[in-house]
Amino acid sequence: MFRRLVSKRNKIIALIMLCMVTVLLPVIMTSCESRGNAEKIPVLAYHKLIPAGSERNSGLEIDEAKFEKQMKWLSDHGYKTLTLDEFYQWHAGMKELPKKSVLITFDDGYYSMYYLVYPILKKYDQAATVFCIGRHIGETTDEFDYNDNVQDHYMGMDKIEEIRKDYPKFEIQSHTFIMHDKTDDGEKPAEVFSYEQIMEDCKKMEPFACTYLAYPWGTYSETMQKALKDSGYKMAFAYDPFYYALPSDDTYAVNRIKIGGGISMREFKKIVKGKDSDYDATL
Ligand SMILES: [Zn+2]
Repeated sequence: MFRRLVSKRNKIIALIMLCMVTVLLPVIMTSCESRGNAEKIPVLAYHKLIPAGSERNSGLEIDEAKFEKQMKWLSDHGYKTLTLDEFYQWHAGMKELPKKSVLITFDDGYYSMYYLVYPILKKYDQAATVFCIGRHIGETTDEFDYNDNVQDHYMGMDKIEEIRKDYPKFEIQSHTFIMHDKTDDGEKPAEVFSYEQIMEDCKKMEPFACTYLAYPWGTYSETMQKALKDSGYKMAFAYDPFYYALPSDDTYAVNRIKIGGGISMREFKKIVKGKDSDYDATL
């Protein structure tokens, strides 16, 4: 009788331990994966979102449903989406970040940032940054009269102010004022502008209070880097489709990875997990 009681008690203890291992082990493993200082960070560079199911899903335009799936996956798998200051501090060696960290950026400042990206970021409580082209920022979004789809419009100051006030985790930064337009000779301004011309461009961006910048086409020169430093910019982003951002990157030429409409979920996961990927959004 006594022996039977002891064996029954052992069985219960064993069962409780099994339950604890089953429930707690995945939690412990996930938290271990999330901890530790990230050695490299994927900086994702998106451009424009388009409504779900749109036939224009190609190149650098990405379907909102596909984008939401990516954000949900990051959220479900414990990824930290960074603010620029967090990323900057990690890059400067002032802050440790979890291995599961990702910096999400958008270029150009299309209106789809407001009506497609912003609600998704809020839904998953994620941080991101959009680098806006200064000369396309009007006083209000509605003043533009494009005879085209709404996603081709740019955000006006009305939407930028609304986002900054309502959801500061979605940061608005600089993609230069006019340096996204090629010169009359078809050259990229970053390759031919003088120091004074670039300083003038930075001055035109002052009303938008930016401290980070993404180079148009990822193109820059030493002159441009110097002008940005002298204008008070803390960091600038370029492109390199196959490499992650490293603390050893030049602060004024941080690597980003272009993410386009053709990306599969498999490639997306490989990129954010830091595994080698042959994905190239420009192809
Ligand atoms: Zn651009």
